[in-house]
Formats: sequence, C-alpha cells, structure tokens
Amino acid sequence: MIVLIKDGAKEEQVRQLIERLESFGFQVHVSKGVVKTILGLVGNTARLDIDLIRSMEIVQDVKRVQEPYKNANRKFHPEDTVITVGGVTIGGGKPVLIAGPCSVESEDQILQVARAVKRSGAGMLRGGAFKPRTSPYSFQGLGAEGIRLLLLAKEETGLPIVTEIMDQGQLPFFDGVDVFQVGARNMQNYELLRVLGTLRKPVLLKRGFSNTLEELLMSAEYIMAGGNEQVILCERGIRTFETATRNTLDLSAVPVLKQLSHLPVVIDPSHSTGMASLVRPMSLSAIAAGADGLIIEVHNDPPHALSDGPQSLTPEAFDDLAKAADLVFQAVLAGTAAMTS
Ligand code: PEP
Ligand code: MN
Repeated sequence: MIVLIKDGAKEEQVRQLIERLESFGFQVHVSKGVVKTILGLVGNTARLDIDLIRSMEIVQDVKRVQEPYKNANRKFHPEDTVITVGGVTIGGGKPVLIAGPCSVESEDQILQVARAVKRSGAGMLRGGAFKPRTSPYSFQGLGAEGIRLLLLAKEETGLPIVTEIMDQGQLPFFDGVDVFQVGARNMQNYELLRVLGTLRKPVLLKRGFSNTLEELLMSAEYIMAGGNEQVILCERGIRTFETATRNTLDLSAVPVLKQLSHLPVVIDPSHSTGMASLVRPMSLSAIAAGADGLIIEVHNDPPHALSDGPQSLTPEAFDDLAKAADLVFQAVLAGTAAMTS
C-alpha cells in the first residue's frame, strides 16, 4: 500500500504519521522525491482501514499495491535508484561498464585486464573467484586467493570490484569487495539473499536461467526486506528452444524492469550470447534500450582462458565497444532531447 502525502505537509506531521503506521505493525518505506513524498507500507495491510488513513489531514491519497514485490516496486519509489560504488554511480545516468575476466586466474592476468579496461573507461572490475561451474571437474576458481588478487587490482587501478558469492560461508573473504554478485544459479537461494539483505553493500542480482522477471523482483525483495536497498538487477539470458546462442538475451527485460521497478538494470551480453562476436551488437542494443550498465567478460588471452574464453572480448575489442557504447548513449540522449523540445 502507498500513502501519498500532500504538498506542503510539515516534517513533524509526516513523522507522526510514520510512527502511527509503524504502531499498526507496518514497515514504512519513505520516498522523498523532488515532487512528492510517498510512504510505502509493507506488511499485512488487508485489515487496515484505508478510509481512516485517507481522512488524515496530510494524506492526499492511499492506493493498494497489487504486485507482491513492494520495496522493489516503482510505485514505492517513483524516481530511479542511484547506487554509488566507490565513487561510481549506477542508475538513471550514463551507463556503467563493468568489465573483467570470467575467472581470476593469476596476478599477471587480472592486473593486465584491469589496467586495460580502466584505460577504456570501465567503471568497475569484474572477476570470479568462487565459480559456480556446471561440471565439478572444471576450474572452480582461485577462491580466497582470487579475491586477494582482485584487491591488488583495485588498489592499483582504483576500480571497485564485483565478484560472485555462492554461499554465506564465504562472507569473511568479501570484506574489501565492493559489490556482491549473486549468480543465475543462486537467484533463488533465499538464505543467501536474506543474509545479503542484512548487510549494507550493493548486490548485483542475476536473473536465473528459467525465472520470470517477477521472480527476479521477488528475489530483490528478499534482499531489500532486510533493509539493504542497494540492488542492481541483471539480465544474463534465459533458456529457450534456441540453440544458436548460449542463452537468449531477453532485451525487453530492460524496459519492463524499469517500468516495474526503480532499481538499476544491467545487461550481461557475454553469458547471454556465449560468443564474443555477438557481444558488441547486443551491448549497443542494450544501451539503446535504456540499460544502466553492461557487465562484460574481457580476457587478455581468450583462447587460453580457464573459463568462458569463447565469449570473452580481447582488451582491444572492449576498447572499441566502449567507444561505440558511448556514441550510442550520446545518440539516445540527443534523440530524447530532440523529441521533447
Ligand atoms: C559469471 O558472471 O561469470 C557467471 C557465472 O554468471 P551467471 O551466474 O550469469 O551464469
Ligand atoms: Mn563467465
């Protein structure tokens, strides 16, 4: 349920109303926008007397929110959420490029890639240390050592780091990590989501292979229900009958999620296509569709990568993509300005 506050209501009156609503047992989420203040109520509102709330002096209107996700709902928070990670902002502005190898393999590898993507304008460095591999016989990642190497790269380049957490038991290794990545395979690991909800560090939440967008938003809700509002949604391709690509990139996820939610939306063109040659066209399409960022696999030697080589860009290809992405973003801005002037 959302309560719209009248313009000109005094802070003190709003505070009293919040206290009153909390005394009824609701969690109250306050959204103070440029135009409107909205109170979002979470809890069982079925027995609440809407007319009583509506009759209050500072209340303009009360509306029920039908969707099962509340904190993640745009109705609760009409403005785009902007998340700041180590000085980089994601959401509602210039798309952020998150780039790096699928897996951290060695000091030399991660430093080379980190330096290159930084030069090309990446805002964050990605790299898997704890890897969820389909086969138990494949390279499983360097684990804690991988995180140590990511931290070295962060120290040298200043790039905030994004890396996957597979289990809450790995948390002690994540102190210096800037963004937790929750992988597709763990999107519905509710225990993990709940624990991440108790922390105050951004989470990049990937959509599961066979999950709906509503299920993705419900997973975001698990994190947000614990008070951690810094969730970045990521579309990374879903399973369909199509076999020409590794997965099928559901690009409509961008406008759909942005209509339904205020959270930033990032596209992963690497896992969704599985082929380096498709990463550039899908990245540019994602920017045109309004994505807040891209998470792209880049390797200094793709043919010898220990994981996901075929979909990894060389640093040169990434540099070219970064330039093209910027041009597309400028074109989108110019187009929007021309249409509204
Ligand atoms: C990854 O980012 O390397 C990864 C394993 O992604 P996903 O969870 O989308 O498969
Ligand atoms: Mn990968």
